[in-house]
Amino acid sequence: MNMTAKKTSVIGFPRIGKARELKFASEKFFKGEISEAELQKTAAEIRQYGWQKQKAAGISFIPSNDFSFYDNVLDTAFLLGAVPARYRELGLSALETYFAAAHGYQGPKGDVKALPMKKWFNTNYHYIVPELDDSTELALSGDVKPIREYNEAKAAGVHTVPSLVGPYTFLKLARYNGNKKAGAFAASAVNAYLELAEQLSVAGAEWISLAEPALVFDVNDEDKQFFKAIYSALLEQLHAKASVKVLLQTYFGDIRDVYQEVVSFGFDGIGIDFVEGLKSLELLKTGFPKNAILFAGVVNGKNIWRADYEKKNLLLIEIEKVVDASRVVVGTSCSLLHVPYTVASEQKLPADTLKHFAFAEEKLVELADLASGDQTAFEKNRALFAAARVSATPSVRASIDALTEDDFVRLPNRGERRKIQAGKFDLPAFPTTTIGSFPQTAEVRANRAAFKKGEISYEQYVEFNRKKIAECIALQESIGLDVIVHGEFERNDMVEYFGTQIDGFIFTQNAWVQSYGTRCVKPPVVWRDIHRNKPITVEWSVFAQKQTGKPVKGMLTGPVTILNWSFPREDISLKAQAQQIALAIRDEVLDLEKNGIKIIQIDEAALREKLPLRKSDWHKEYLDWAIPAFRLVHAGVKPETQIHTHMCYSEFNDIVRDIDAMDADVITFEASRSDLKLLDALNDAHFETQVGPGVYDIHSPRVPSVDEIVNTIHRIIDKVPQANVWVNPDCGLKTRGETETTASLKNLVAAARQLRAEA
Ligand code: GLN
Ligand code: ZN
Repeated sequence: MNMTAKKTSVIGFPRIGKARELKFASEKFFKGEISEAELQKTAAEIRQYGWQKQKAAGISFIPSNDFSFYDNVLDTAFLLGAVPARYRELGLSALETYFAAAHGYQGPKGDVKALPMKKWFNTNYHYIVPELDDSTELALSGDVKPIREYNEAKAAGVHTVPSLVGPYTFLKLARYNGNKKAGAFAASAVNAYLELAEQLSVAGAEWISLAEPALVFDVNDEDKQFFKAIYSALLEQLHAKASVKVLLQTYFGDIRDVYQEVVSFGFDGIGIDFVEGLKSLELLKTGFPKNAILFAGVVNGKNIWRADYEKKNLLLIEIEKVVDASRVVVGTSCSLLHVPYTVASEQKLPADTLKHFAFAEEKLVELADLASGDQTAFEKNRALFAAARVSATPSVRASIDALTEDDFVRLPNRGERRKIQAGKFDLPAFPTTTIGSFPQTAEVRANRAAFKKGEISYEQYVEFNRKKIAECIALQESIGLDVIVHGEFERNDMVEYFGTQIDGFIFTQNAWVQSYGTRCVKPPVVWRDIHRNKPITVEWSVFAQKQTGKPVKGMLTGPVTILNWSFPREDISLKAQAQQIALAIRDEVLDLEKNGIKIIQIDEAALREKLPLRKSDWHKEYLDWAIPAFRLVHAGVKPETQIHTHMCYSEFNDIVRDIDAMDADVITFEASRSDLKLLDALNDAHFETQVGPGVYDIHSPRVPSVDEIVNTIHRIIDKVPQANVWVNPDCGLKTRGETETTASLKNLVAAARQLRAEA
C-alpha cells in the first residue's frame, strides 16, 4: 500500500451544467428569450458548482478557465485577438461576435459562415479551428477571461490554476489563410502569454497550466524546433518577470518525440498521461527533473468505469521509483469534460450496476483515495474487482469464432455492381439526397417523450411518427429530391437508438457529454456481449417506402460509430466489440433488403474519431479492425442493393484509401466547413466510391443561395468525375428548423438542376 498522502489535480471539469443548464440557457439567449446577463449568471453558477465540488473533494490543484460558452480553442483565439475581421465587422457585442464565429451569423448585420470545426484529438468533442491571416496580430485582448474567472473563483474562496491552451498547440491547430505561417506568430504569441502570466501572477495565481496536447502527435524535427523556440523564449522571460509557476500539461497520449526536451526546459510542473500514454512510464524511467513536480495522469478522464485501485497503486509505485513521492501529484489523464457529471444523477440503473461507474465527481473521490491510500476505500475497491463484472454470451462468441474471410468481402466488385444498380435506379445526373434526419421539432420530441413516459400508447406514438414520415416524404417529393429518407423522427440519437434495441448495452438517464458547443450526447454503455434479437428499423422503412415511388434509404448506424460513441468495455478488445455490433447490424441490413428496401445507408459518422493520434499506430491499432467491421455489415447484400455510408467532420485525406476499402457504393460526408480540401485527396487516390461532399453547412441556420451551391458543385466537379457526384447537405438536418431546411433544400435541388442543364 502506498501510504504517502499526495496532492491531487484535475485538468478540467464538465461545464455544461449538471442538468445541461448551459445548453438550455444558451438556446434561450439565441432566441432572445433571456438577456446576456441571465446567460452569464447561469455560466457563473456552473463554474461555481465545479469549483465547490472539487474543493469539497479536497482537490489540491483545481482548474479555472476550463469553462467555455462554446469551445476553449475559440476562447483562446478571442483571448489572443485572433478574430477574423468578418466577425468583428458585424458590429455585434463581444459575446455575440464570439457566437457568430462559433456558429455563423445571418441577420440584419450581415451574413457570415462559422469558423470550421474539428474533432478534438481522439475525443468526440469538437473545437473551433482558429483562422490566422497576414493581418492578424496576436495580443492579449481587452476582456481577459482567464483573469476574470480566476478572480471569480478566488472571490468564492477557491484558489485555482488558470488553465490555458498552450501557444504551441494553439498555433499548431490554427489554419493560416495568408503567407504567414505558424512561425510568424510565435513571437507575438509568446508576448501575449507572458503578459497574461504576469497579470495572473499579480492577481494571485501561484500556478498556470499550459495545455499542450499537440505534443502527443508525431512531432517532427521542424515542430520540435518550433516548440523549443516558443518555450525557451516564454520560460526564460517568465521566470525573470513573473513569480508564477508553470505546469506544462499534456494528455491523450505520451510525448515520446519531445520528452527529453520537455524535461530539460525547467518547467515547474509537467503533466503526463499514464492512461493513454503507452510509453509514458518508459519515458519517465529515462529521468525526470529533480525539482519539478510530476502531475501524473493516472485516473482515466475518458472512461466511466471505476479505477482499479490496486493497479493504479502499482503504477504510482513504479512512478515513485523515479520521482520522489512528495513531488508526485495524482491527477486525471485528461479533462473530465469528456465524462458526465455524476453517477448520483442516475436513478434507474440498479445499484449493482452503478457501483461499477465513476463519472467526474466520483473520479474526484478516486483521486483523493489514491492520493491518501485510504485502507477502507482500497478494500471496497478490491471487492469490486474480485469477480468478473459480466459473463460471456456463448452464442455470440460462437458466431464470432465462425467468421471467415469471405464474410468480409462483398461480391461482385464495385464496378460490376455499379452497372447493375444503374439499371435498377432511374437516377438523374447529380442525384440529390439528404443525410437522413429532418428537423426534430418540439412536437417530434414531445411525442417520443410522451411515449417514453407512458403518457401515450405505442399505437399513438407510431401513428404520430407515421404522419410525420408521410409529410416528410411528401415534402421531399415536392422539393424534388431524388433519393428520399424517412426523417428519423423515432430517433433521439443515431447511436442511442440502436443501442436501446440491441442486446448488451445499458443506458443512463443523465450521463451527458459535450460534443460541440452546447450540444451533448448521452453515450450508451457496452455492458456485455452484443446481439440483435429483433428487427429495429424495418417497419418504419417499409412504411416510408410505401409512401413513394422514389427509393427511400434504409438508415442505420455502423458498428465503428456505435462503438466510438459508446463507452466501451475494458474487459474485452475493441475489435471484438466492433465485430459483435457488426453482426447485429448485419442482421438488420439483411432484413431491410428482404423487405424491399433497395438503398441502405450505414452511417459511420465517427469512423475517424478513434484513429490513433500517431500515424504509425493507425493500421495496426485501429483501421485493421475498423474497416473490416464495416465490410462485415454489408458484405452479405445482393449486387443491386445500393450501400451508402456517411461521415462527419472527417478530415480523411490521409485515410482516403481505407475509406474506399469500406467498399460502399456511395459516401456522403461533411465538407462545407473544411473548404473541400478533401477533393484533392479523392482525386489523387482515384477514389472509386460515388461521393456526395456536403454542399452546405447544416450546423448553422443560414440558408445557402442557389449560386453558392452551384459554385460549390463546380468546385467538386473540378476534382471528382461528374458521374460520381451526389448533391446533399453535409450532415443530418435534425438540429435545424423547418423553414430554413425547406429553403435550403429547394436551393440545393435548384442548383443540381442547373448543373444538369449545363451538362
Ligand atoms: N443519419 C444521421 C442523421 O441524418 C447521420 C447523423 C450524423 O452523421 N451525425 O442525423
Ligand atoms: Zn454527419
